[in-house]
Amino acid sequence: MSQEPITLFNFRNELDEKVLERGWIYFLNFWVKEPREVLPGCFEAVVEEVNPHAVSFSLNELGTFSNFFCTCGDKTHAICRHMAAVIFVYEKKYIEENRPADWERIEEDSQQPFRKEEN
Ligand SMILES: [Zn+2]
Repeated sequence: MSQEPITLFNFRNELDEKVLERGWIYFLNFWVKEPREVLPGCFEAVVEEVNPHAVSFSLNELGTFSNFFCTCGDKTHAICRHMAAVIFVYEKKYIEENRPADWERIEEDSQQPFRKEEN
């Protein structure tokens, strides 16, 4: 694992591939419960695997993570699959919050046929 701090923008490259894969599946299955900001910049979530695991971390305004902790005690990976699942949740939040103001119109337009039928 590199020494680069993990951010919302590099984690897909920095995390172990198997960890990412598991985390992605947990994310898609909505196993990340109650993600919440408990103090400014300090976050917690519960990941409902077979046994639930509690994850806590800091996330600053630049999208940089620090102080990762998970109750699973994974000694092999600095960032475990539960944390990866939670990072995907916050990546989604970031993307949704930073959409252009006219996102809904763009989305509606994009559902129109690419080429308008000529009458
Ligand atoms: Zn874990």
